[in-house]
Amino acid sequence: MALGTVGLRSPRMPTADPPPSPKLPEINLMSDSATQTDVEVATPPRILSESASLDVDVATPPCILSDTTSLASSQGDDHTGKSWASVVNDPWHPLILCLDGGGIRGYSSLLILKKLMVEIARWERIFEAMERPTSQRRTFDENELLPCHYFDFMYGTSTGGLIATMLGRLRMNVNVCLDTYKIVGNELFGKRRSSIPLATKYDHVPLEKAVRKIIMEHCPIPSHRRDSDGKHINCDGLDWHPWHIDDEGNEPDDLEQWHKDIDNRLCQSICLTATHNKRATEAYLLRTYNHVYSVMTPEFVTEYNTGAEKLRIWQVTRATSAAPFYFQSLIADVANETKEFKDGGIRENNPSGAAWSEFISLYGAHVEPALLLSVGTGRPNRERDGFAETWPGPVGHWALMRKFAETFAVVNHMLVKYTDGELKHDMLVNQAQGMHGWYKRLNVDTGLEDMKLDSWEPSEEIDDKGTTRHVPGGKTLATIKDVTEKYLNRTKEIRELKEYAPPRTMISQTAEKLVRHRRAREKTKDLSDFDRRRWESLLGQHL
Ligand SMILES: [Zn+2]
Repeated sequence: MALGTVGLRSPRMPTADPPPSPKLPEINLMSDSATQTDVEVATPPRILSESASLDVDVATPPCILSDTTSLASSQGDDHTGKSWASVVNDPWHPLILCLDGGGIRGYSSLLILKKLMVEIARWERIFEAMERPTSQRRTFDENELLPCHYFDFMYGTSTGGLIATMLGRLRMNVNVCLDTYKIVGNELFGKRRSSIPLATKYDHVPLEKAVRKIIMEHCPIPSHRRDSDGKHINCDGLDWHPWHIDDEGNEPDDLEQWHKDIDNRLCQSICLTATHNKRATEAYLLRTYNHVYSVMTPEFVTEYNTGAEKLRIWQVTRATSAAPFYFQSLIADVANETKEFKDGGIRENNPSGAAWSEFISLYGAHVEPALLLSVGTGRPNRERDGFAETWPGPVGHWALMRKFAETFAVVNHMLVKYTDGELKHDMLVNQAQGMHGWYKRLNVDTGLEDMKLDSWEPSEEIDDKGTTRHVPGGKTLATIKDVTEKYLNRTKEIRELKEYAPPRTMISQTAEKLVRHRRAREKTKDLSDFDRRRWESLLGQHL
């Protein structure tokens, strides 16, 4: 079967059976390569910076066609994760990233993603060395690779939504995101407004300003609206969140076309927020694409709202992260109705359940994603349900008041329930029958459970000249870095956490899978106009 004829099934027309999976060339490499040294790589032509030319011909590598590998045998029987990592069943099968909420602890998620990008670059160089003569090898710099070239969907709750927006909608790299997160952290938590119990603790205006500044700096737009530096001409930071709405706020006449354009494979980002509907607070998805549930959507799938709300990027980031008592909720008119959006963490702090439901509703019940990578913000203390220790204001210090206040808040859906994240994790582990296949969760297991959402402790640092410097948030960020590095360097798996291998092996295998998919996708680009457009779309060339 020609690869060019195989796309993902249109979301409008699901059938009872999964689409046939073409067998792709397999290249046998060691998959557990934590100790493997980097392969020397010659310089340019570079790829994967969107302003650079991305259209580099690829020499066909020597390959072995396997017609015996099935999805089941590729991951079900092998509990080491190696078979899963080394097989590509369909290059365009979705790869999904999910990011939990966690306030400043989202910095830990970004450090985990940074490690993933280092591994991705390493695998790219390994394949490059195998597939190309020295003179034609491209450079893969982990500091510049874009996660949106590797993932198709990025889901985030609360500050995870902010990160998903930066990586997916604004197409930023992880290093810039890390720097930005520090700036936003200082804007958010550096200036406390009120310590009165139940009052809003922080002003939301600095967050809006910070996000608009990030948008002005990074918003990706069509070439005819870019200046000579590739920036959006006269950008005011008010860009719309859904991809299909233009500068003037116009939606295309044929929205269905945009729905189908999901096959054109621009990375989509989705923020999980919460809104009050009639009497209940419900999880609500703010998407960059127009989602439609078909009549064929299985009954067990949790249906969220449909479509893509016409909101601006800054509104979406505020909506997803408006934690009760921390920030004012966002009131906005969507679809002729006024809605109040709150931090999604009060309903689903781990968005991977929502991501799974969306995937099934798009691709059918009998298909598995190629990858659903869930990244946490530190394992909670399971004996506590909400963020009792992080309860703002003086009540947080009185055990009895705290207990009462937390019970009240949990019953009224006002508290972020971190333990919910672990329940979603358990559900996905069951669904995927372990973490050695398409489902992976990376989450610091110890060291962050007592860190407050808005921790922003300074440090005193001595520079080269012996001058002491006050660094806002320095101690908090150093602690997060320290515990995350310990987690990433751990050499033994923890079976009680359902790990099948140490985190660093899981990351290496995840990177291998992502790189194999990206390279397999690149190889389809010359098969037909459709394939070329799909590949170019992934790279952001049809924005
Ligand atoms: Zn812009």
